[in-house]
Amino acid sequence: MSVDPAHIAERKMQFLFALRSRGVTEARVLSVMERVDRGLFVRGHFADRAYEDMPLPIGCGQTISQPSVVGLMTQALKLSGREKVLEVGTGSGYQAAILSQLARRVYTVDRHKRLVVEASAIFRDLDLTNITAVTADGSHGLPDQAPFDRILLTAAAEDTPGPLLAQLKIGGIMVLPVGQSDAVQSLIRVSRSATGYDYDELTPVRFVPLVEGIGRDG
Ligand code: SAH
Repeated sequence: MSVDPAHIAERKMQFLFALRSRGVTEARVLSVMERVDRGLFVRGHFADRAYEDMPLPIGCGQTISQPSVVGLMTQALKLSGREKVLEVGTGSGYQAAILSQLARRVYTVDRHKRLVVEASAIFRDLDLTNITAVTADGSHGLPDQAPFDRILLTAAAEDTPGPLLAQLKIGGIMVLPVGQSDAVQSLIRVSRSATGYDYDELTPVRFVPLVEGIGRDG
């Protein structure tokens, strides 16, 4: 990758422009996305495409999400800085790193141990001490740490998983892609009130599927 500072500044400007033009408008979210270097989370020969607004392969057949979608999902969570957040689908760890700058505590789970180990190493290098990454099947949530103020799924479920609804606090928000894995899915926001759950449909998205059980690599 080029280290020419003018080139880096130019690339960052284009990155932020792409985020804004796709609806990521909240200043705090943009500022965190400007600071957290996506290049650290994209390894191998795709590393030089880290600042393009596209999903990229990360190993175990998974992808790091498109940055504008990371921004839109983060925005939809309406974080104030005090929340305990659960992310299902650690993947590269990029989304968790963004959340860690906008919330109090982040628990992130992935069914692939290798991804959890690699992401945890980056969290340590960056001194992101408020993130805990765990190998687990996130369709059951994380009962030990429940309830959560916010829950984010970064893999598509065919239906909102019941255990996750139950682990959301009253007043809490969950954001998730819902739909078949081979079709366009909808990003949904679920808000829990004292009397039930309200659903809003935000935007069409495409995610890898939520798969039950732990991955074969551990
Ligand atoms: N948030 C990630 C992108 C995630 S890709 C990032 O910022 O890079 C979706 C991830 O969900 C994959 O890593 C996949 O292994 C994980 N996943 C799928 N089903 C799961 C399940 N039931 N429990 C936990 N993780 C799951």
